[in-house]
Amino acid sequence: MSNLTLTPTNVKEMLLKVADVIIESEEKLSQADRDLGDGDHGLGMQRGFTAAKAQLEVLEPKTVSEVFTTTGMTLMASMGGASGAVMGMLFQSGGTALGANDSLDADGLCTFLKGACDGVTNLGGAKPGDKTMVDALVSARNKAEGNDCKSISEACQAAASGANEGMEATKAMIATMGRAKTLGEKSIGYPDPGALSVSIIFKTMSDYAS
Ligand SMILES: [Mg+2]
Repeated sequence: MSNLTLTPTNVKEMLLKVADVIIESEEKLSQADRDLGDGDHGLGMQRGFTAAKAQLEVLEPKTVSEVFTTTGMTLMASMGGASGAVMGMLFQSGGTALGANDSLDADGLCTFLKGACDGVTNLGGAKPGDKTMVDALVSARNKAEGNDCKSISEACQAAASGANEGMEATKAMIATMGRAKTLGEKSIGYPDPGALSVSIIFKTMSDYAS
């Protein structure tokens, strides 16, 4: 099945699926943060997406925007820390950029990704190459924009592929921002946990939309 667009209810189902997969990935994300940081990323993400799931389950969305912004605001309020602020901002600013659209198509996903990149980079100040979640997010945006996608399925596949490439690229980087900036060359060889989370989010969206 190749979906051209997703309805607000589809987007709600998609983000509920994202929440389930992130909650199941707690140990993987915790280990990734133990390798580079204080080890709290998995639990923070699990807490945030458990709260987001509860909010989404009772939402009767009229627009795709409100599904994303509800997720973003709930992550900001429940996760805490720098990760909560940037992960919440990803959904909050991406969703806000979609305005009053009542469906999500390939162009809409690109609009979401542009809004998300702008919001996260304005908030945190990280640039591509700093070994943060920005590497996965900007790579997702570039691949979705560059592929001239015709359907939401294709756009989500491109975003997932780009996010995965961006996450993989963080393994070779020396952290200059974020959780691992004091580790210097010792940060080489490990992916950034936030980038890993972003790659899981877009992979799950792609699995849903395909
Ligand atoms: Mg941490």
